[in-house]
Formats: sequence, C-alpha cells, structure tokens
Amino acid sequence: MHMVEWKQIEEKWQKRWAEAKAFEIDPDPEKPKFYLTVAYPYPNSPQHIGHGRTYTLTDVHARFQRMHGYNVLLPMAWHFTGTPLFAMVERLKERDPGILDTFLNLYNIPESKLPELMDPVSMATYFAMEIKHGMQRIGYSMDWRREFTTVDGYYSKFIEWQFEKLRQKGYITQGSHPVGWCPSCGNPVGQHDTVGDKEPEIEEFTVIKIKHNDTVFPAGTLRPETVYGITNMWINPDAMYVEASVDGENWVISADAANKFQLLGRDIEIIDEFMGSKFIGITLTNPVTGAEFPMLPASFVDPKAVTGVVMSVPAHAPFDYVALEQLKREVKKNPEKYKFKPEDIKDIESIAVIEIDGYSEIPARDVVEKLKITDQNDPNLEKATKQIYSAEFHGGRMRNNTGQYASLPVQSAKEAVKEDMIAKGSATTMYEMLEPVQCRCGAEIVVKIFENQWFINYGDPEWKKLAHENIDNANIIPRELKQEFHNVVDWLREKACARKAGLGTPLPWEPEWTIEALSDSVIYMAYYTVIKGINEVKPDPETLTEKFWDYVFLDKGDSAKVAESTGYPEDKLKELSNEFNYFYPPDTRHSGRDLISNHLTYMVFCHDGIWPRDKWPQGITVNGSVLMEGGKMSKSLNNIIPLINAIDMFGVDPLRISLMITAEPLKDADFSPDLAKNLGDNLDKFYNKAQEIIAQGKGSNENLKEIDKWMLSKLQGHIADANDAMVELKVRKTIHAALYNLDGDVDWYKKRVAKYRDDPERIEAIKYVEWRVLDTQVRMLTPFTPHLCEEVWEMMGGEGFIAFADWPTVDEKLVDKVSEEIEEVIQTSMEDVQKITRVTGIDAEAIHFYTADGWKWKIYMLALRMAKEGSLNIGNLIKASFKDDEMKTRTKQVPGFARQIVDDVIKLPDRSVDIRLKMGQVNETNILQDAVNFIAGETGAKIQIGAESDPWIDDPAKRAPRSKPYRPAIYVA
Ligand SMILES: [Zn+2]
Repeated sequence: MHMVEWKQIEEKWQKRWAEAKAFEIDPDPEKPKFYLTVAYPYPNSPQHIGHGRTYTLTDVHARFQRMHGYNVLLPMAWHFTGTPLFAMVERLKERDPGILDTFLNLYNIPESKLPELMDPVSMATYFAMEIKHGMQRIGYSMDWRREFTTVDGYYSKFIEWQFEKLRQKGYITQGSHPVGWCPSCGNPVGQHDTVGDKEPEIEEFTVIKIKHNDTVFPAGTLRPETVYGITNMWINPDAMYVEASVDGENWVISADAANKFQLLGRDIEIIDEFMGSKFIGITLTNPVTGAEFPMLPASFVDPKAVTGVVMSVPAHAPFDYVALEQLKREVKKNPEKYKFKPEDIKDIESIAVIEIDGYSEIPARDVVEKLKITDQNDPNLEKATKQIYSAEFHGGRMRNNTGQYASLPVQSAKEAVKEDMIAKGSATTMYEMLEPVQCRCGAEIVVKIFENQWFINYGDPEWKKLAHENIDNANIIPRELKQEFHNVVDWLREKACARKAGLGTPLPWEPEWTIEALSDSVIYMAYYTVIKGINEVKPDPETLTEKFWDYVFLDKGDSAKVAESTGYPEDKLKELSNEFNYFYPPDTRHSGRDLISNHLTYMVFCHDGIWPRDKWPQGITVNGSVLMEGGKMSKSLNNIIPLINAIDMFGVDPLRISLMITAEPLKDADFSPDLAKNLGDNLDKFYNKAQEIIAQGKGSNENLKEIDKWMLSKLQGHIADANDAMVELKVRKTIHAALYNLDGDVDWYKKRVAKYRDDPERIEAIKYVEWRVLDTQVRMLTPFTPHLCEEVWEMMGGEGFIAFADWPTVDEKLVDKVSEEIEEVIQTSMEDVQKITRVTGIDAEAIHFYTADGWKWKIYMLALRMAKEGSLNIGNLIKASFKDDEMKTRTKQVPGFARQIVDDVIKLPDRSVDIRLKMGQVNETNILQDAVNFIAGETGAKIQIGAESDPWIDDPAKRAPRSKPYRPAIYVA
C-alpha cells in the first residue's frame, strides 16, 4: 500500500489554490452568495487543536456551500482590542518564569525573538502571523485580502460610526451601574479578561436587616420570601468581622463585605474589628415576624460571600438544614465547647413556609437525605441547593404562615416580599458576583458601582423586541439553542462599553475612554465587505466620515455629494456599497457556545439597532469545545498540542477529519492522537482504492445486474443521509455516511462481484459502479479532507478544482429499494451462516437453506398491512389469519408463528414496511439460487436451497419449519 505524502499534496494544492486565487471572492451578480464568518482570534498565543474545531467546522461549512454553487466568502482578521496583552508584556519584561516557560517551551519561540515581543502591538502582530500561518497550512478557504486588525485607522473610523449610530438611536447611556471590576488592574472586566474566559455575572441580592438591639446583622439572600422561615443566624466563628457605620446604621459584616460595600458606593466607616465567635449566642429579631432566634456558629459561612452573615432557613435551604443537625449532634457530644447549652438548640425546628408537590413538608430534608449529606462542607450541598431553589421557584406556593403572601406562587412572592421589606426599611440590596471569577492578573473580580460609565443599553425593551424577532427568524444551529438566545436577550442589561486603558478605538464624544473588546467586535462582518476596496484606494482615515459609512452601509445620501465631501472617488464609493449589498445580510456566524451570553447576542442587537430587517443576521452556528483523550485541555495538564505541531504530526486532512468526526453538535469533541492516526490509515486506504479504480477506468452502465443496481441504490441512501446531516452541520454523521457506512457496502459489493472480474460481460458494469461510487465519495469527503480529494479528483481527470464541483445529490432513478430488500435476504442469510459456524465451530461442508412456505407469507403480508395501519398486535394478527380457510388446517402452527412475526415486523423501519408490502411475496429460492456461487465461494461449502415443504429437501436436524419470510432457515453440516 502507498502511504499518502501529506506534506507534498498539502503544499501542492495550497499553492494551486493560491495561484488560482480560488478563495478570493468578489461579488458575482450571476451567482447567489453565501457569507459566513467566525470569531476573529485574540492573538495572545498560538492556536492549539482546541481552536481547530470551530475554525475547521466553519471552513467545512464554507466548502460545503461552495459545492452547492454559492459564491462563498470566508474572511479573517485580528482582534487586538483590550488589555490582557499589556499584562503579558509586563510579565515578559519581568522575565516571569511561567511566561518564559510557556513562550520558549510550549510555543517554541526562539529566545532571540523575545525582545521584539515586549510591546502589546508587536506581541499581537507576532501571534497573528503565527495563527495566520497555521490557518493557511490547515487549508482554510479564506479570502485573505480582507484581513485587518482592530487597531487600524480605518477600523477605528468604522467603530466610531457604529457608536454614533447606536447613540443616535438612544442605545448608549451613561450612568452609575454595577460592573465586574478588577481591583488590581483598576478596570471593568469582561469575559475576555478572566481566567477560563468566565463571564462575570452580577446578581442583585436582597439584604435583610436582622437586628440585635440596635445593631444590624444584614443577611444577604436570593430568597427573600423565606424570611418567614428563619430559625437562627449563622456566623463564621473564625473569620474577621467589623462593626461599621453603614449609611448611618450600625452594622456587623465580614471585613471582606465592608470592602465590597465601599466599592458599591455605600457611606461606610469602620468602628471596630472582632472575630465572628464574639457574636455567638446573641439573640436576634426577625424584622417581619418579630420572632427571636439565636446566632450560631457555622464553618460553611464564607466571609467573602455577600455579607458574611447568613440567615438560616433549614426547611428550604440544604446548607442550613445540614449545619443545624450537625451542630445539634456536636453540642450534645461536647457541650463544654459551646457558649450555649444543648437545650438551647435541640428544640430548634425547621419552619416550612413553601409547599411544593413531590416533596414533604421539609423539602431540604428530602434532598439531603436522598443525597446522604451529613456534613456542611459536603460539595453535594451546592447541587442540593440548586435543585431545591429551582423546584420551589418554578412549582412552590407560599404557605398560610406567610401573612398576605399566603398561597402566592414563589415566583411572585419573591419580588413582593423583597419590595415590601425595602419599602419598610427592613431590607436593602447589594450587587454580588453570582460565582467567583478571577481576573487574568490573578485578582478576584468584585462588583463596583461605576460612576459616569458608558453603556450599551441592551436592557432597552424596544430593542429587545427587535432582537427577539431576529432570533425567531434566524437559522440557529443546533435548533435547540434558540430558546437560550431568547433567554439571554431577556436578561441582558446595560453593558459597560468603554474603559480607560488598553488598545482600541477612543469613544468619539469622550476620547479619554477606549471602546472595549466585546463592544467593538459586533458588526465587523460588514467591514469585511468593504475593507478590500478601501485598501485599494488608501484614503486618509480621517476622511472616512459618518457620511461615508452612512452611504456605504445604509444607502443614505447622494454618491456625488459624499464623494465630494470625503474626497473618495465616486465610482469606488459605489463599488463599496455594491459589495456590501451583495454580501449582506451575513448568512451565518460560527462561534463557541460560551459566547451566546455575550458576543453572539450583542451581534444580533447591534445589527438590529443599526440596519433594517433585510440586513439582519440570518443564522448562527454554535459548537462545543475539544477534549484531549476525554479530559480538558490545559497548560497545567501539559496536554495542549499547538495546531502547527498537530499538522506536522498527523497531516492536515487526517487532523481535519479527526477534529470533525467526534464533533457532535453541542458536545465536546474528543480528540486523541490514536484517532488521528487511525483516520490517517483510513485515508491511505481510500487513496489506494481510488488509484486502483482510476487505473481500471470508467466502465459502462449498459449491462447492469441486480447487484450493481443494489450498490448504486445504497449509494443514493448514503448521499441522502450525508445531506440530511450536513444541513444541520452534523458532521460526525456525515462522515460516517460518506466514509464508514459507504465503505461497508462497497466491501460487500466487492465480495459479491469478485467472481466476475474476469468476466468480459460483467467487468464494464463493475468498473462503472466503482467509478461512480468513488466519484460520489470523493465529493462528499472534499469539505473535510480537501487536499487528498483534489489529488484524487485530478487523477480522475475531473474538471477544475473539486472544491467547486457539485456536492452529490440523490439520483431518484437509481433508487431501487426492491433490490435492497432482496439483497438483504442474502446478507442476513450469510450473517446467520457465519453466526452458526462461529458458535458451533463447524467447518461447513454443506449448507442447506430452507425458504418459507406460502401460508407464512400470507400471515407476514397481513402483519405488514396491520403495521402500516397501526393495528398490529398478536391478537389481531391471529384473528385475521384464521379468516383464511387454509390456516384452519394449521391451528397449531399459526399462533406461534404469528407471535414471532409481530416481533419482527415491529422492529422494521416504516420505509421497509412500505416496500415489502408493495413487493408482495418474494421468491427467496430464486434469490438464493442467483447468489449460490457467491455463497459457496465465501464459505467453501456445498449449497442446497429449497422451500421448507419441498419433498426432496434434506433436513436431518428439522430446521426447515423455522423459516420465515426474509429469513430462510439454515442447517450447516
Ligand atoms: Zn486584573
């Protein structure tokens, strides 16, 4: 076998594509367009194979559409905006050992290169070139003439225009709002700035003012409605607390909470510091019910979370339930350790305030007992808490002990209780991170009320309506994510859009602010369509005024006047507008799932806010990430393979197809070096098989036999499967249809025709079938393994690049379901023979096939008809069978046989039921007789075929009565 010389054919075809400018796409009025984009990378590191999935899928999609006759544009650019590069440059300048190790050993950057990288733009440029090199080597069909960076002068003018448009529509606001904030960098942070790219999500907590005399112990909670169920409070005895004046009231909160309240703009003055243990045993009063309860110690209380003091509602909060039970046990065991006595707490009982179907009076106890949790530090408590929270939120009702809220659904009571307490001064609110998030600099992100901050107001209700409409009409792949997009549209609020540091475009009306990375990356799909033309004219960026962009993107104004006022040549200006109007709206946007909650939805909003409906995004394709041998890829696990290394290790096409074959929509793809090698072997086999077929020639379809028609019909089925899967970008299914399932049938076909390869009357038909299969298969594999397919296509004498050949479609004339059903008789018979010889260990000398008698066929046809009508069951079938007089002579056989047939027919696909109904009784004896040479050749045995009731058959083991339609009985001797 010849191994594919990957490097050689990769270079060959990449050079040919480049020379032919194959993927440099201009408007073509004769051809429909398909415009897709994928997130431009933030170049702060080389790409690894984890990045390969999203970009490869986008390229596969582009190539698939190209083979459907579309003029497909796939451009690429670089996102330099933001601050993380600054931090990296600093660490590099300090020769931080971690960064040095990564740069020298993981990224293989030569030591001598390092000084060049000690400036943010140089570092970004270096990595951008590195990533571009990788994208070119992996064969992405991109139009590189449209490349840019987000700090280019033209881009800045474009972003200024975007912000002017949003401001004119009233979507830009200024004010004081909570933002995720890094205290160490002194900046608001977005997803791109955090460790693990976690979105900093801010939640508004209700803070209930629970008092001891005049001192407030403010309890932060997401469940204000449970205030009626408080049995005690918790404090961490070993954490530091402060007594402070907060907006004129005397509060006790954790030292961490005091810092947070400061950032939230509270007027706060610290009076004294204590350990939490000081407050244990004091008596507190419920501000709503007036009930009194004690302060108790609990280690689960995190002084960093919310206020650091916690109200305890054991009936509905698993943490509280477990901590209380645990404390009761411990106090009983070691009473001397505690300031209070066992009898002080042994009578504390849960107070149920919410009722919910499927749970007992104390829902927290149900879940805790089910999960067998007894310790307040058990990690399962998080899960238990979420479960109760969600169940009670969606299905709970307030009990009679909750005053005016009794019988309200929890969903409404939550807000009502909160509003009423705030109105009475017994509660307030505070913003807090929903989950801890770390800045890339290492500091913990906190919430800060930011004064005079600029926001894009995604909370605008009219704007939300447009976004919902766009999502409704968009082709979202996978479809089940549509609701997730709607949810994000609903909960998005003001998004801080500028900061006072980093690379990027100055805010046009207040240039000391720089527009941040998630706000300058939402409509650049439009910019790709015009930047190539602008680069040809090379105007002074300052001349690209609002009027210029208005004309190009919104058809506003008169071209002559705009040309005059900007100095931009009028014909070139019209070209830009034409190009934009040709490629817009964007057909799909590819991205990872983690960007639904920000980038992808912002993209929808900003398009809808600026453009009329006919320019709105038409589709979004979302995919998961890549695992390495079942685990997460991470630097610390040392299992990151840089993309460039993977290309050298496996070859581009094996790498591409192995990234795709494990890629189920929404699931993480699981890459492994073994898988890539294995697929490389498969492609070697494909290449060799192709060479053989090409050498033998195209043949002729003049004299096709049943088995040839069978192969061609099966081929149509695989085309249909691949098509159905590809429309939803289910690439794993597509590859299985195009490669494995098709190959399985080809192997069978080769066995069936092996005997005729020397037969001059048959060989031309065989060549024809094999050529046709190859021609189809190479087209279907092209999006995945484009280099190998070009090579095979060239050997086949195909016209032009296969990249532009037609994707196969089902040829209905070749669909021959009857021959498929007939061949199945032979396939199942052969499988049965193999099973028997395997189980018995008999080296077959003779094989007897016994086919079913007519009465069995009658019952079988009855069963098929009933299956089609939906009335098939054993009783019905037996009753119907006995209406036939012939059956009355077989009263013992009919019921048993009917039972077996019901089992068989129920498993049959609907399509087969239809076809078998149409075919009626099949002459299986003839079918097997036609394949007798093949069966004898495969088994080396003598073959005897007869109907079960034929008097001459030899049936020493009494097997013949077991025969069924489509399943002859078999005896191996
Ligand atoms: Zn930071």
